[in-house]
Amino acid sequence: MLDLRVFENRELAQRILMAITREAEMIGREVRLMHVCGTHEDTVTRSGIRSLLPENIKIVSGPGCPVCITPVEDIVKMQEIMRKAREEGEEIILTTFGDMYKIPTPRGSFSDLKGEGYDIRIVYSIYDTYKLARENPDKLVVHFSPGFETTTAPAAGMLEAVAAEGMENFKIYSVHRLTPPAVEALVKQGTNFDGLIDPGHVSTIIGVKGWEYITTEYGVPQVIAGFEPVDFLMGVLLLLRMIRKGETRIENEYTRAVRYEGNLKAQELIGRFFEVRDAKWRALGVIPTSGLELREEWKELDIRNIYRVGVPKLPDLEKGCLCGAVLRGLALPTDCKLFGKECTPRHPVGPCMVSYEGTCSIFYKYGALF
Ligand code: SF4
Repeated sequence: MLDLRVFENRELAQRILMAITREAEMIGREVRLMHVCGTHEDTVTRSGIRSLLPENIKIVSGPGCPVCITPVEDIVKMQEIMRKAREEGEEIILTTFGDMYKIPTPRGSFSDLKGEGYDIRIVYSIYDTYKLARENPDKLVVHFSPGFETTTAPAAGMLEAVAAEGMENFKIYSVHRLTPPAVEALVKQGTNFDGLIDPGHVSTIIGVKGWEYITTEYGVPQVIAGFEPVDFLMGVLLLLRMIRKGETRIENEYTRAVRYEGNLKAQELIGRFFEVRDAKWRALGVIPTSGLELREEWKELDIRNIYRVGVPKLPDLEKGCLCGAVLRGLALPTDCKLFGKECTPRHPVGPCMVSYEGTCSIFYKYGALF
């Protein structure tokens, strides 16, 4: 029996689910739909959407958690920068987001480094880092800055303010990443899915336009969807209709927030401060044109330009951790033998169990509903 109590608009959800069921019957084979967003995974798992869909409709989760895919080498390099600065008589204040703070690496987490007496603070936005830098003009304040397009836009806005003020003690370590190249890489690597549900928030920045080439060049049907459960269900329905009719298009379900061309001001700011580079994603390898580094003319804002340290290549994951397969949409957290046993949010073995956007963490949190 369907339990739609978690849906604000139960009648609408019921109607969409009935239409989905009809489409699924007409298609008559297994259909795999991928999303690439931790917030969508939260919507899906919290609402029990997998259990409400027909048996032949599978929702798989791709690389939707920027903290989970941040390379261990970058986290360790930032730690080494803190140590080198101390050796040279300078105490850095490091800020980052709460989930990044606890991400495990073979050399420990930022949380472990704080335990050694370093000044590491959790912030809700890069604006908090800016305020800290203003309050501590005699200290170097560094933001370890992860995130996809949605987070890069405010980071670029903050850099604009810092540059305009000539603030010299504010630096960043960019580990920003771009989402569409990761999807492109999955398609090229042969990850099998019939349609893609695009994240609404990323799409507010890059627009429908930013995703189009995934459809035109790789033949993947796409729907941009918002974050209410009925948004996601509509995304599923629109994709199933396209798949049944053999159509390959991109549709925008989230018209209340996403425009065709996206947010041009944000795109201009990102382009002014950052340039696109090939970049490593933890457990996924190097993905062409998927990283954002500060442009040469803004290098003085990059902490790596002040303290140069090297780190060896390190293993991405602990033995037995399936994060790589989870991030590729090839496995669900419940396929991992460590899930809920050795690996829990209190004692995470892999990065997917740490962030509130990590698929393993979300499955653990809403375990009763999937
Ligand atoms: Fe890795 Fe833990 Fe997820 Fe298993 S449950 S894939 S060990 S993060």
